[in-house]
Amino acid sequence: MTAHYAVFGNPIAHSLSPQIHTFFAAQTKQDLDYGAKLVEPGSFHTVIQEFFDPQCGNGSGCNITVPCKLDAYNFASELSSYAEAAGAVNTLQRLEDGRVLGDNTDGRGLVLDLQRLSLHLAGRRVLIVGAGGAARGIILPLLEQRVEELTIVNRTAQKAFELCQLFERRLPEDFSGTLNATTLEGVKGAYDLIINATSLSLKGQGLPLQDEVIAQSGAVYDLMYKLNENTATQAQARALGVKKAYGGFGMLLMQAALSFELWRGVLPDVDAALEHFSCRS
Ligand code: NDP
Repeated sequence: MTAHYAVFGNPIAHSLSPQIHTFFAAQTKQDLDYGAKLVEPGSFHTVIQEFFDPQCGNGSGCNITVPCKLDAYNFASELSSYAEAAGAVNTLQRLEDGRVLGDNTDGRGLVLDLQRLSLHLAGRRVLIVGAGGAARGIILPLLEQRVEELTIVNRTAQKAFELCQLFERRLPEDFSGTLNATTLEGVKGAYDLIINATSLSLKGQGLPLQDEVIAQSGAVYDLMYKLNENTATQAQARALGVKKAYGGFGMLLMQAALSFELWRGVLPDVDAALEHFSCRS
């Protein structure tokens, strides 16, 4: 019997999730369909309840995108440790007893993509620029990779310090590195990896860091992506001589693959998907 999945958000027409999951389903020979559903303001709870109702949408699982990730967090009857740490849910799954599990695969998707790109994390200095929802979702998975130092910096510095305090209480048991926060002016020295978790590239703007900090870095990863094109941050980093400058399309595919694995018990081949969507990064 065909199982039903979908992505919910607003706007939603631009979402690549239906194409990605349809590709994964064909690749893994899973009998499912996957749609895109617009969520009008204030209607999240009703729309999702209908989707999961066996007499109505009979949905098995769904992805959640902007601006509904917090609504999904509140909707879920059970949360994974990643969803709890992120304070947001990007994946819902109907359990056999009818309850709904909320997970967040964004951060693990990033880690898998960094591994694909051979950007090693253990023992490295990593800088996260940004302290919004995306930043919060990637911190725990990065700490789990036993980075040497994880620094959070944000335009509104207070938010970076608050995130740091929050995760100081949730450090993985085997974490022996440093987690800290600073101001934009306080960012100094060479990082092995700078992660852009701001929405600046959406506005065509690069990182608000001193040129020398970017130039000295080993790699720059922008969570935002442009298919087969550099984001503003990638372009900025390359212009400053950073050879390893990546966009977040691989992360998008990886987080989708992890959702798919949760629902279907099989992890799709993301390399084939990257080739299919002919993405360079
Ligand atoms: P939020 O709106 O929650 O956070 C935005 C962040 O950007 C804040 O830290 C904000 O700082 C900062 N920012 C915005 N404007 C400026 C500016 N002019 N100067 C400096 N900093 C600025 O967004 P999200 O965290 O949800 O998303 C961030 C990015 O991550 C987006 O580009 C999104 O597309 C991408 N993303 C990619 C995913 C993928 O799979 N590839 C998954 C999830 C997100 P302040 O606090 O000071 O306002």
